[in-house]
Amino acid sequence: MSLLTVEGLEARHGLLRAVRGVDLALGEGETLALVGANGAGKTTLLRTIAGAHRAAAGRICLDGAEITTLPAHRRLQRGIALVPEGRQLFTGMTVEENLRVAEGRGRAGPWTLATVLEAFPQLRPKLKARAGDLSGGQQQAAAIARALMSNPRLLLLDEVSLGLSPVAVDQLYVSLQALLAGGATVILVEQDLGRALRVASRVVCLLEGRVTYEGAAHATTREQVMEAYFGMAGGR
Ligand code: ATP
Repeated sequence: MSLLTVEGLEARHGLLRAVRGVDLALGEGETLALVGANGAGKTTLLRTIAGAHRAAAGRICLDGAEITTLPAHRRLQRGIALVPEGRQLFTGMTVEENLRVAEGRGRAGPWTLATVLEAFPQLRPKLKARAGDLSGGQQQAAAIARALMSNPRLLLLDEVSLGLSPVAVDQLYVSLQALLAGGATVILVEQDLGRALRVASRVVCLLEGRVTYEGAAHATTREQVMEAYFGMAGGR
């Protein structure tokens, strides 16, 4: 059975239908890259799965149980953790305090302060530093580490590379790839298509809130995705 199933999902911002009839299924251990142009609905879809945005229609199920109307904190308890665009750390608190906030708010499991520091060693010397004083790459690492502290079954990563230097992105992806190799189940929004295709097992492209392409990452070409990006797929 799929860990996550999304059926006919609709999400709106006022009258704007940001997510339109999206169907998705994600198995345990899969990494789904969600791609699409600015405004395609990627963030809204992730936030709706996490319970940070209300679904206007459709169903979201985790492990067969419907969670469509559960509030975000209850979804976190069931194992859905979102790393939002912009990280949203408590900038006045230390890194350790930020990590401890998530402790006990999700599920019990292998992720503890000690194991997240093994996964993100760049945070170890920064534990007592204010999160707001960290570099962008360190803040992103802290945001992912904080989500892991809740021991998620499904990790939703929104634009982890945004605004980071190429070196910081490379360093972050060393940790992320280890995480994925360890069997994490992830939906990843990534602007860098090449990177998305390299790390993901499957790729889904959104255009104006609709899925315009879905395929195995290894069998997907850059051209196929670009066509879906701009709405040319199937139109010729
Ligand atoms: P980006 O890469 O720019 O973050 P995205 O694919 O994540 O884009 P969304 O941020 O989900 O797309 O936006 C989908 C649509 O919803 C866009 O047309 C956007 O302008 C609109 N939208 C997003 N957030 C809001 C909001 N808070 N209020 C009104 N409209 C919004």
